[in-house]
Amino acid sequence: MAQITPIKYCPERDPVVNPQHWYFLPAAKALKICTRCYHDRLSATPFARQFQVEYYPSGDSRYCDFNNPRMHSVLQQAVAQNNFQLLHDHIVYRSQIPRCKGEEIVKPDDGFEWFKPLNPALKDKFAACRACYEDYLIPAGFAPQLSAPIRQEKELNYMCDMGFRFCLRLATTCRDWNQMISYAVHRAGLPKCTGLTPAEASSGKWYKLRPNDLDSLLFCEACYYDFASMTIMEPHVYLPQQQPQPNTQINCAVSGWPSMRSAWEQALNKKDFNTFYAAAQVFVRNPPCLHTGITKGTWYTLKPPCDEVDICASCYAGIFVVNDVGHFLAQKWTQPGQTRLCNMNLHQPRAMQLYQKLDAAITANDEKMFSDFARWAAETPLCPGGALVNDRMWYRHETFSCCPSCWMEVIDGTPLESAFPVRNQLYKPQLKCDFYSARVRGLWMEACQKNDLPGFVAFMDNRLKIWSQTYPLIQQHLATMRMNMMRQQTLFMSSTILNGGNSIAAAAGVSGNYGNSQVGYGWETYAGAEGAMQFNQAMSMNGANGSVAMSIAQLEGLWKSVE
Ligand SMILES: [Zn+2]
Ligand SMILES: [Zn+2]
Ligand SMILES: [Zn+2]
Ligand SMILES: [Zn+2]
Ligand SMILES: [Zn+2]
Repeated sequence: MAQITPIKYCPERDPVVNPQHWYFLPAAKALKICTRCYHDRLSATPFARQFQVEYYPSGDSRYCDFNNPRMHSVLQQAVAQNNFQLLHDHIVYRSQIPRCKGEEIVKPDDGFEWFKPLNPALKDKFAACRACYEDYLIPAGFAPQLSAPIRQEKELNYMCDMGFRFCLRLATTCRDWNQMISYAVHRAGLPKCTGLTPAEASSGKWYKLRPNDLDSLLFCEACYYDFASMTIMEPHVYLPQQQPQPNTQINCAVSGWPSMRSAWEQALNKKDFNTFYAAAQVFVRNPPCLHTGITKGTWYTLKPPCDEVDICASCYAGIFVVNDVGHFLAQKWTQPGQTRLCNMNLHQPRAMQLYQKLDAAITANDEKMFSDFARWAAETPLCPGGALVNDRMWYRHETFSCCPSCWMEVIDGTPLESAFPVRNQLYKPQLKCDFYSARVRGLWMEACQKNDLPGFVAFMDNRLKIWSQTYPLIQQHLATMRMNMMRQQTLFMSSTILNGGNSIAAAAGVSGNYGNSQVGYGWETYAGAEGAMQFNQAMSMNGANGSVAMSIAQLEGLWKSVE
């Protein structure tokens, strides 16, 4: 077997979508172990050869389920007794427990079990999911304080109160139940960080950094607990007596800017405050990376220079330099007074892909991987979606077509790519892309896994028929909604930035439920999973998108009536 280079840092509970090797036990394939954990904890034990490794191409989110106190202690015990069965049985058992959903809502049908404090005064204030209970609360010795597993009431949604980074950290060190539970209850009650959206000053407490030159940076209490408390960052932050004036809008300095979050995460990974400090100094001295662009900015680009690739000083410092890849870029001369848009700004249509590629390039220590992609992205037109366009380059099959952008994202390198007889050729008449749809992407992946091209073609054939009846009109509406919604922003905050081997873009790739041969290729909303998501979001929004969504609902009703 070729030598596998371990990733820099274990992703723990953060999702990874980049192509990567994962270890597992054949009897528990669902429980993945990252190459870092395998290398550090398993490779030197007598059990090393019991684990298999597989390369997983980009797509689904994957997590390392090995890096928690329970697993560590079972491993230690198994090694001490030279008893592999002990570790084997725990891994198999653990692989069947649903993964903690963190700050996401858990629905009754999700099949979770919950553990609540026995103390009647606390029992309605705290609930931990089984994964957190097994991984953190049992090894902390807190099991006797907690109830037997409780099934979720049919009509109630839950959220795990243990899933915060702060609580997991607390449970690995704190052995005093009263202290543990009072902090956990406090953390669970804090307002959620608003991330990239500015928050009103009066919505909570605001923390600061100690260095005087960082006095303008404020961050929220939730981020204080999750990213500073009990870490190497804690001595460098404080709660100022003088809180900001009400009616002020504040961008949280930890989670409100990708560059700052990336710098913060790297400071934690490297256990080095100065990693963050250096990037933060650049951040406060330069114009912020706004979606409206930067006028008096310092700019960086690829080497050799690429006219279309512009990266602002804050992103250069907070994203590239802190990840030790400042050398991927060089400063660029630009005409004074020009307003330019930073390519790392999440409002840029390809920003998520760019982050993902950068993440992979950092892991592989491969500058070319990043610069080739950045150059390609700058030169290749965006996917036209379902809109009909003419005079473009296409990859074509008689029942479906794929634009060069989606080709790179979805098809390139997959086992069935030869299904397209026409490749990257100019086609003058109007054509639509089929592969922007999350459903189609999901089905393509599935077809590749099962080596079932005829199944895919049959689905696409049927899709084309329905499309010609109703799809163009709906697509028009969806395009309007997409413009309105800045989907990337919402997706962005659900994962980590550049954890040196972990993708920030976990949520951006193929996601959701697609049709498959078991459930049938049902069209819940026939705009596909992607449309459905935007549809649901839009339905709950006020204003412009609400009315667009209403038109879609009417069209959908129309289609259902003739189904
Ligand atoms: Zn790991
Ligand atoms: Zn949990
Ligand atoms: Zn925050
Ligand atoms: Zn920027
Ligand atoms: Zn496309």
